[in-house]
Amino acid sequence: ASADIGLIGLAVMGSNLALNIAENGYTIAVHNRTASKIDDFVAMAKQQGLDQKVVPEADLVQFIQAVKRPRSIIIMVKAGKPVDEMIEQLLPHLEAGDAILECGNSLYTDSQRRYEYLKSKNIGFLGIGVSGGEEGARHGPSIMVGGPEQQWKNAQPILEAISAKFNGEPCCAYLGEGGAGHFVKMIHNGIEYGDMQMIAETYGVMRDGLGMNPAAAAKVFKDWNQGPLNSYLIEITGYVLEAIEPRTGKPLVELILDKAGQKGTGTWTAIAAQQLAVPATAIEGAVAARSISSRKEERVAAEAAYGKPSAGKADVSLDDLEQALLAGKIVSYAQGFAVLSKASEEFGWNLPLATIAKIWRAGCIIRSRFLDQMSAAYAKGGATNLLMVPDFVTIMQDAHKSLRKIVAAGAIGEFPLICLSASLAYFDSYRQAQGTANLTQGQRDFFGAHGFILTDREGEQHGKWPSTLGK
Ligand code: NDP
Repeated sequence: ASADIGLIGLAVMGSNLALNIAENGYTIAVHNRTASKIDDFVAMAKQQGLDQKVVPEADLVQFIQAVKRPRSIIIMVKAGKPVDEMIEQLLPHLEAGDAILECGNSLYTDSQRRYEYLKSKNIGFLGIGVSGGEEGARHGPSIMVGGPEQQWKNAQPILEAISAKFNGEPCCAYLGEGGAGHFVKMIHNGIEYGDMQMIAETYGVMRDGLGMNPAAAAKVFKDWNQGPLNSYLIEITGYVLEAIEPRTGKPLVELILDKAGQKGTGTWTAIAAQQLAVPATAIEGAVAARSISSRKEERVAAEAAYGKPSAGKADVSLDDLEQALLAGKIVSYAQGFAVLSKASEEFGWNLPLATIAKIWRAGCIIRSRFLDQMSAAYAKGGATNLLMVPDFVTIMQDAHKSLRKIVAAGAIGEFPLICLSASLAYFDSYRQAQGTANLTQGQRDFFGAHGFILTDREGEQHGKWPSTLGK
């Protein structure tokens, strides 16, 4: 055996990850179900001067034997059933202490199940979230690892070497047992949905409330990228908005059909949040916004029924808009991290929140200056909800006022701000000491005798309700 690690699945992600590993000086054995793809990969590795580090094996058993023990074998095949099929094919040829490193976009419950299953066979299973797309896989992704600690230690030097770096620190960490890595990756994607939707909404305010053209909007995003919103997504927004479609000479963004695609990870986040009873309304709003966007025909019909929105001029400044986006972002991250915190408790993962913020600072889609600030704030310890972390309390004390102005402008101007308004409503609910659930509890007792607590007495009470009503 001569390879330091093995990799199965030479499609876009697997190929790039394998080249990244080879470039970092490790010898990698590679395999793919369709053997011709192995030849294509070797040709690509040769072009990049990396073929000396590649051990191509079309035969699965020989591939496994080419990897040094204890083996670390990455599988990067299509998520779902193919992963289970691959595990079954590998199992008879693996030995105690070996590990399968599954790096696809898998649902965390699948990773949890695979981890338990392989544990019973003395084989390690690491469920690894890899973020950063094709480019990240090739030059440094953010890597979120879950599974048995021993097998993480075996693979740690390679995974850290290939990961993105922020100020020299690897954006790769062991986060906990079982499905922890894929859970954290899922929340990353949910937060990504929120960021993208809130950016789209601020573009909507510029377009519909302030009458700005894409070039003018692009300039604002470029300016914002120099300030507290500095991030990959704000940066690419500037590029997308300024792009010109060559056939027509028109702004590309105005020609792109307004139907957003989704692969389901945002929905998974929303479902997990609901199951854990953690409010994640900004993320849910972002998922809902994509779903409503896809119903183009219904929207066109509804606009005909209700009339075109008045698109009255919004009386807001670009500074307010920047602060509103920052406030919305704080709420959305607060929600995402609250889900992480609850999951950690529920599943016994002991998720390191500061470390998670740290490994998202580079390599992944949500990388930003904000996450550096966040990891520093969490590292000081104390509060788990970002809205109670002192540095962020200071920002929110002002920024929520801008968020309020923007959401109000959307309501009056008739342009939708699903995600930003959800953030504001969450903030207002979160910081309201006296809520309105007293009435809800009264109603629940009326129709279902569910009982309530009185603020001036111990123990559960019931009301004396009119007996013939509501039964
Ligand atoms: P695909 O999801 O398109 O999967 C193709 C690969 O899976 C091929 O190597 C294919 O082999 C193999 N495969 C499919 N079915 C089987 C099977 N039953 N048995 C064995 N091999 C099988 O590849 P991608 O590179 O796009 O993605 C890989 C993983 O990474 C996925 O989980 C995906 O969701 C995730 N991903 C992550 C991204 C990120 O940013 N983190 C971005 C894109 C993807 P063959 O050549 O023989 O067909």
